[in-house]
This record gives sequence, structure tokens and C-alpha cells, in this order.
Amino acid sequence: MTLADFPRHPLTFGPSPIHPLNRLSDHLGGARIWAKREDVSSGLAFGGNKVRKLEYLVPDILASGADTLVSIGGVQSNHTRQVAAVAAHLGLAAVLVQENWVNWPDAVNDRVGNILLSRLMGADVRLSPAGFGIGIKDSWREAIADVEAAGGTPYAIPAGASDHPLGGLGFANWAHEVRAQEEQLGVFFDTVVVCTVTGSTHAGMIAGFADLQENFGDRPRRVLGIDASATLDETRAQVARIARRTAEMIGVGRDLRDDEITVLEGWAGDEYGIPVASTDEAIHLIGRLEGVILDPVYEGKSMAGLIDLVSTGEIPSDANVLFAHLGGQPAINAYSGRYH
Ligand SMILES: *Cc1c(COP(=O)(O)O)cnc(C)c1O
Repeated sequence: MTLADFPRHPLTFGPSPIHPLNRLSDHLGGARIWAKREDVSSGLAFGGNKVRKLEYLVPDILASGADTLVSIGGVQSNHTRQVAAVAAHLGLAAVLVQENWVNWPDAVNDRVGNILLSRLMGADVRLSPAGFGIGIKDSWREAIADVEAAGGTPYAIPAGASDHPLGGLGFANWAHEVRAQEEQLGVFFDTVVVCTVTGSTHAGMIAGFADLQENFGDRPRRVLGIDASATLDETRAQVARIARRTAEMIGVGRDLRDDEITVLEGWAGDEYGIPVASTDEAIHLIGRLEGVILDPVYEGKSMAGLIDLVSTGEIPSDANVLFAHLGGQPAINAYSGRYH
């Protein structure tokens, strides 16, 4: 099997746009930095990286005969909002378990941003007191059992669509898309920076770029995952597992080496979902220099990593860096107490 053998149900307008961040690059005085924008590539509820993963789950969902998508995330989960949008788009119901992943006291946390959007799209939103974790949860099992008890047919989508057999394919496809765009732009992105939490975005990229190297003659690239989970060991293990599974599925033809699986720590702070000084600085810097909006849970942290890696020369000054902007802006509404 190759990647092209897996059916994909398009949910995006086409390739997500790539553009240079010239003022940021000049400001940092090192490598040239570009962004690839998952936040503006779909018409479904502000888009984001989960839409791209779901493109490869939809054929399986439709074949299963399910009438209800069941998924899980934090109260301000971007993923569950994207599941709600895809359900609406397909004419299916959605049951969303929203757990208390973030220790964030904002008064409107459970009323604005992503959760508001999911409600608008008709999802059955269920608040649950359980805390952060990327594994399989009882609350999620209960929601699945509830749908069955009511005579429905559930289709279960794990947190971030990551721990699903098809979860890595969307971003393996992203790697192939990058290659085609590079030919048009006349650039080679030797370094990719991506935020990592549930892991299949980063893992899919690793598998996809390994595929390009082994089967399409590409030069190797560095795919740097920036941890935003603050549970580094668990996230690193999940990225490795999904990357290896995906690489095998798409016929990379060799095992991935450990040095291809890089999850860097240092910018997550102590807790998932809680911004730290470097997150806020990155959000303000990119906002002021580029007019591009980053969120405090994910992209603010991965951009903080990129800024430090470029500033210190860890990413060398002759590099062309592609920053994966994975979306996430609706959650900003729940951080009004911090940004005002
Ligand atoms: C989910 C998400 C991520 C992390 O992607 P994973 O595949 O869960 O590692 C990063 N940024 C945004 C905006 C997200 O919604």
C-alpha cells in the first residue's frame, strides 16, 4: 500500500496556503521562516489540523453506517469543534465529551470560543469533570454506550483523532502537499516546526517525509515537534508509535530511526493549556510583526520554540523553516482575562 491507496474525503479547499513571514525572519536575523496555514484551508468552522486528519476517517465513517460521531477533548477543544463541523457537513449527529483538561479559571471558559461554536452546530456537548489525558476515557465509553442505548450507531473518534488507525494519514498527505508546493515556490523546507500534543499531526509528517525520502528521492528534513502537552514521555511515545504505524501503512519500507522522532521540551510550561511568558511573547510578537494570530494552548508554544531555536542558531541561519500553523484561534476567547 502507498498513501495514494487510502481513500480521502476532501474537507478543505485544496492545499493549505504557504507564505513567508518576512518581518519575523528579519526581526530574528537568522533562518527564513514560512508558515503553512491549516487555519484558513477549510470552510468548516474555522478549520484546523483535525479537519485534515478527518479527511481520511470520513470514508471509514460513511462505510460503517454510523449516524453519530462521538469524540472527546477539553472544554475548549479545537478537535471536538472540528468533529461537530464535520458531523454537520455530513448530516450526522455529534456527541462531544468536554473534559476539564485545563486548569483555567476564566469565567466564560465553558461558554465562548470552541464550545460555543460546537453548540451552534448542533452538537450534544457534555461537560465532564475528568482531567487532562490523551488516552481512552470512561466518560467517552459512556457516551458511546449512551448512543447505542438510544438506538443510534456511534463512530468513536479518539482525542485529536490521533489514536485511530487512520489518524496519521492526513499529515502524511500534508508532507506530499508541501513537496508539490515547494516546486511551485522554488524553495526546499529543510526544517519543519510543529506543535505536538496528541501526536498524530507530528507523527503523520514524520512518516510522510520519510516516504518522500525513501520512495521519491527527497533530501532528508528535520521535523521538530514542540511539546505543548507538558506530559513529555507520554506524548513522545505516542508520536513514535503513530509515526511507525503510519510509515508501515504507507509503505515507507524501513523502520523509522529514533533520531527521526524529535519532540522538544522547554516551551509547554508546567501544564497543558496554560500559557507561560514565552507563549505570551510569541503571540504578541507574531501579532504585531505579521498580523497573524496564534493561540495560547498550542501555536503560541510552538512559535515560542521556533523563535528560540532560530535566535540561538540551533536552527542555522541558512535554513528554510516551515512553521505549521494548525489553527486554534477560537480558544483565545476563553483567555480574555490574560490578554486585555
Ligand atoms: C490539536 C492541535 C494541535 C496538536 O496536534 P496533535 O495532533 O494533537 O498533536 C496543535 N495545534 C492546534 C491548534 C490543535 O488544535
